[in-house]
Order: sequence, then structure tokens, then C-alpha cells
Amino acid sequence: MTANTAPALLDLAPLGAGHFARIEDKVAALMRTRETVVAMQGEALLPLEACIRSAVRPGSTALNIITGPYGETFGGWLRSCGAEVVTVAAPFSGAVTPAQVADALRAHPDIDFVSLVHAEAATGNTNPVAEIGAVVREHGALLLLDAVASVAAEPLLTDEWGVDLCVIGGQKAMAGPAGVSAVSVSARAWERIAANEQAPRRSYLSLLDWKERWIDGGRTALPHAPAQLEMLALEQALDRIEADGLDGVIARHRAASAATRAGVRALGALAPYVIRDEDAAPAATTLRAPEGVDARDVVAAALAADASVPVQAAAGSLAKEMIRVNHYGLDADREVVLASLAAFGEGLRALGVPVADPAAVVRAAGDAWDAVIAG
Ligand SMILES: *Cc1c(COP(=O)(O)O)cnc(C)c1O
Repeated sequence: MTANTAPALLDLAPLGAGHFARIEDKVAALMRTRETVVAMQGEALLPLEACIRSAVRPGSTALNIITGPYGETFGGWLRSCGAEVVTVAAPFSGAVTPAQVADALRAHPDIDFVSLVHAEAATGNTNPVAEIGAVVREHGALLLLDAVASVAAEPLLTDEWGVDLCVIGGQKAMAGPAGVSAVSVSARAWERIAANEQAPRRSYLSLLDWKERWIDGGRTALPHAPAQLEMLALEQALDRIEADGLDGVIARHRAASAATRAGVRALGALAPYVIRDEDAAPAATTLRAPEGVDARDVVAAALAADASVPVQAAAGSLAKEMIRVNHYGLDADREVVLASLAAFGEGLRALGVPVADPAAVVRAAGDAWDAVIAG
């Protein structure tokens, strides 16, 4: 016989089609879309790749906007689909401007697809999607938006902004699971995908399979066994955001970003990596290490002071200069931000780097937190 504690994650009643469809509808409400939402049964890179492979074909001209590492990944997929790729890049310390996008569209009238990342958790910047969406709509291209690091951390108005393909994941500000994700697909995008002979069919990457086998049949029978535990966790994350109020969840993430930036400015030695406050992603704050000090040493010293803080060194080529403070979900919290700033202060002092008095840092961060929450 089994042990007397029943394993909580096993022996659940199957997740039926109706329940699955209700979870998709909750996602659609969160994303502010009336278009189709498909809950993809894998991490968010799955729908992102699926969107590009479904909508882009040889002969397409794609505008790929790069403001961090995910944009670079998209460029590779676009090329492998046979698209001509036009690239617009912004420094990781800022955002792309609508004027840059408009210039690229004017210079390349053939552009029929635009890929954009809303917020980049890896580099801590966020882009003005409302304005960029208007420019893209005017041109007539399809717009793909990676909103994984923005959903629930800042406003995401999928339909109002004219986003045709919008991808979210649960693992950042939603404080949900990483193993399932979702994509909204506009009617325009479905037309383009259906007309693309190269779009994946009978494939894990296929959006058309979901359309034909799930959506067109009225979402009454699931095409295969769903990722049940991850879907249930996604629903709990959605329900918690609903109960807390989306505006309040967004305000907490904005307050965490503002307080971290203000606290670091008061501390000295470290500086916000993203220069302008309006370009800073509420989901994660990136910091520049002091001149001559390796960012990885600052992170190690901060974690030695307090191992609980959500602080990490950046990946890849930025590892030496960039530090990341994550504000995902429950870490978008006043005490967590103050603890992170205290850990930086203690860590930097241990490295022999002079920093300001902790009381001044707490005051600056607390005031910035309160100013956001007061609205
Ligand atoms: C986090 C994130 C993803 C998902 O990637 P993981 O590293 O697997 O979590 C996708 N796009 C963006 C912009 C992200 O920040």
C-alpha cells in the first residue's frame, strides 16, 4: 500500500475540455483580448517560435526589433523561415522609439511582419508598445509581441494596441508556472497563417493544429492530454491576480522598480542600467556595477550578506557589468526591495567600496515606493 500522506499532485480528476477552455478565457481577460487565445503546452519559447514559423515564409520581409537577448533569438528563427530580416536595435540601457520603427517601415515598404519584445527581464528595459503598435498597424504588417516579462507587471492591452500575436508566460510577474504559456491570435493573423504552406502542421509547433482540432470544433474535445498540473497552477495564478486586483499587482511591480532605482541612486556606487525611468521594466531592475568592480563579485557579496534576496548577475556578455534584481510576483514587495538594497550596501562595504548610510537608502526607496502606491 501507499504511504499514509496522499501525494497532493497525483490522482487528480482529469482536466476536461470545459475547464481548459475556461482557463484560456481567463488568460484572454488578463491580456485584454477578444481574439482567440491558445494555451500552449510548453514554456513560452514554444508559442514564440510557433508564431514566427506559422506566420513567416520565404518571401516575407520581417522587421526584428532588438532591445535584448530575446530579440536576437527571434532574428535567427525569422531567417530560418526564409524571411528577409531588417533589424532595428536599441541599446539595452534604453528603449526603441516609435520614430525608429516608422523610419524602418518607410525604408522597407515590403515589411509584412514585425517582432517586438515588450519588456526584457534580462536587460530590464521596456518598450512603448502602444505607440509602436499604431505605427505598425498604419503600415499593415502583423505584429508579434513577446509579453512574457510584462504581463501583470505593467499594462498589456493586446487588442487596443493592435497586437496580432501576443505571447505570455506565467513565470514572471504572474508568479505562476513556467511549463505552460499562451498566445493570442488575431483574425488577420489566422488568415496569414492559413495561407502559409510552410506553417507547421501536425507538429508541436503548430498553431493551425490547435485551430483545426480545438477551436473550430468549439473547444469541446482536447486534441491530446493537457499539462494538467501546469494548467491548474496557471489558473491559480490567474485567480490570485483577479482576487488581488490587476491594478494592485501592476502597482506593486512598478513600486518595486521605482524603489530599487531610487534606493540605488541614494546608495551610490551602483547605478540603474536603464537610464530613463520610463524605459525601466517593472518586472526586473538592472544595475551597472561600479567602475573596476566585477558585477559577479557584487552579486556574490550581496548574497553572502543575505542569501534570500532575488539578485543575480546578468547572463552572457553582460555578466561583468550588469546586475539584476528580480521583482517577479511576490518579490514585488517593499520588504524584499529594502532587503536587496541592504544586501548591496553590506556587500559593497565588504568589497571596500564606499556607499551611503543605510538609513538614507531606506528613506529614498521607501519614499519612491509610497509615491507609486499613492498613485
Ligand atoms: C523570461 C522571458 C521569456 C521566457 O524565457 P525563460 O528564460 O525560459 O523564462 C521570454 N521572453 C522574455 C522577454 C522574457 O523575459
